[in-house]
Amino acid sequence: MFLTAPKTEQLDRQVSQNSIPRDLFKAIADLKKDLNAVILAHYYQDPDLQDIADYIGDSLGLSQAAVNCQADVIVFLGVHFMAETAKILNPNRLVLLPDLDAGCSLADSCPPARFAKFKAEHPDHMVISYINCSADIKALSDIICTSANAVAIVNQIPKDQPIIFAPDRNLGRYVIEQTGRDMLLWDGACIVHEIFSERKLIQLKLSHPEADIIAHPECEANVLRHADFIGSTTGLLKYVQKSDRQEFIVVTESGVIHQMQKASPSKKFIPAPPNSNCACNECPYMRLNTLEKVYLAMKNRSPEIVLDESIRQAALKPMQRMLEMSA
Ligand code: SF4
Repeated sequence: MFLTAPKTEQLDRQVSQNSIPRDLFKAIADLKKDLNAVILAHYYQDPDLQDIADYIGDSLGLSQAAVNCQADVIVFLGVHFMAETAKILNPNRLVLLPDLDAGCSLADSCPPARFAKFKAEHPDHMVISYINCSADIKALSDIICTSANAVAIVNQIPKDQPIIFAPDRNLGRYVIEQTGRDMLLWDGACIVHEIFSERKLIQLKLSHPEADIIAHPECEANVLRHADFIGSTTGLLKYVQKSDRQEFIVVTESGVIHQMQKASPSKKFIPAPPNSNCACNECPYMRLNTLEKVYLAMKNRSPEIVLDESIRQAALKPMQRMLEMSA
């Protein structure tokens, strides 16, 4: 195996001091045994990281996997709000995130103080928040939802109950379309899902007329209207496995294609093009995690996710409500 280039000064130093072993896969496997750890990886992680994981999934699926396992340590290969979600559900376990800077543009677009003020201005509204938000925002919410269950959850709320939906305006708009509910939307968005170009998508479809376009509901409405199927990351994965089609244009973070290709090796997956010529359909926050940082986090038992207990308990309630409503 090859070491990828370390991204921080600290890592540079450690590599030059030979404190990072050459066979990282073996070193991580050894540490996993020593720590009695479980490694959870999101579908948007680099293929190398997906391949060392015990579980690969979306943020909620991973946190639930953590609840059901016997490990003492959870190594979360994803972004900060996801590791926080794992900690909310697993308060007695050490939760490690290899790079604490692995944040999220969508979570950042909803600062807690501004959101608390917005909520206070609409005291009769119930707050439904997409799981892609910080623990502080979860703590200010009545119910959490995922992209897979958002429509079903909103459909269970009495019609005369006004709703604030946060933080993703694109998912919110999609839910409004599907449910016919008039919700008040927080104006947040994900930089990755907003970058897709409608014009380039149409061109790509013209050169692959047999391909199905599959998209995540965090994308903008002008992109979603071209989709043959819209679903959560897990929903998209299931769709391509069941479909008779041989080609798919995938309009979400391109990391998910690794699992699609593994599950359906004979099918062709084409990442949808972003607006510019960059690799902007890769989440820059997700890509901050590397094998080297996973090794160091496990060796040092740090960086660890720490939550104020009152925030954790307040954030747990709307998550439990979601699980009850999804049962
Ligand atoms: S893909 Fe978007 S929503 Fe997901 S972690 Fe990256 S910035 Fe956040």
